[in-house]
Amino acid sequence: MKIQFICLASGSSGNCYYIGVTPSDPPLIEKEGESYGILIDAGIAVRTIRKSLRDVGIPFERVSAVFVTHDHADHIKSLGTLGERCNLPIYATRETHVGINHNYVTTHKLTSCMRYVEKDKPLTFRDFTITPFEVPHDANDTVGYCVELLGRTFVFATDVGQITDTASAYIDRANYLILEANYDPEMLQRGPYPPHLKKRISGPNGHLSNEETADYLADHLAPHTSHVWLCHLSAENNHPDLAYKTVEWRLRERGIIAGKDFYLAALKRTTPSALFEFDVDDASIDAQPQDDNNA
Ligand SMILES: [Zn+2]
Ligand SMILES: [Zn+2]
Repeated sequence: MKIQFICLASGSSGNCYYIGVTPSDPPLIEKEGESYGILIDAGIAVRTIRKSLRDVGIPFERVSAVFVTHDHADHIKSLGTLGERCNLPIYATRETHVGINHNYVTTHKLTSCMRYVEKDKPLTFRDFTITPFEVPHDANDTVGYCVELLGRTFVFATDVGQITDTASAYIDRANYLILEANYDPEMLQRGPYPPHLKKRISGPNGHLSNEETADYLADHLAPHTSHVWLCHLSAENNHPDLAYKTVEWRLRERGIIAGKDFYLAALKRTTPSALFEFDVDDASIDAQPQDDNNA
């Protein structure tokens, strides 16, 4: 089997990731339900999710559940349609579910599709073991997700005011890490945002800067972490090249070379990443797509 991973969107205009499984050699006739996956967050239109998945050969029908990090609009926009129209189970903490149904972007209030997760309690969903963990951020309740699948571990920490010991313990387990690098401190300070917003973003319940993420990775990047995707980059206060280089330089000082010792990419806001495929039958052939996505 192989694991498939793609970021469909990342940033304040929408966040959505797909992780799934499929046979390494696609059979002529696909057994029903053999290939399937989950979404982490659904902050973009369903038609965009459908199209972006189809573009990389993944039928939308494979999406089997949605796991939600928190109730900000850029993470929940399509939950009403996905849950109540497409009948997908929507997993979130109890407080996040309350927030989702109070949010104006939730066009169809969630009812029978609601499923609950609890922090630090692993939940089994078919081949997936998914553990939400607490991260500081100014929503009703915010979690990161540790997603174990066929012996590999993905960790998502997308809106994070600061990396606490709790979050760090999960991040430490990642083979594949999706970690926020929201803003460049200088661009934020010089930029157009009003003072209260600047304070919110850079505060302990806001977002991680390129520097904070770079410093953290320099001190903590585990040898088993083979891929790091920098996510949730700000349009006004960051640039993919700047986020990438800030992390690259900081790690280079520690003798860790991006592109050689591990794969590093800064995710684009509205353009999907390449499709990453990890063959779990052979650990040595992890695919690294030849795309322009490492800038
Ligand atoms: Zn967000
Ligand atoms: Zn948020």
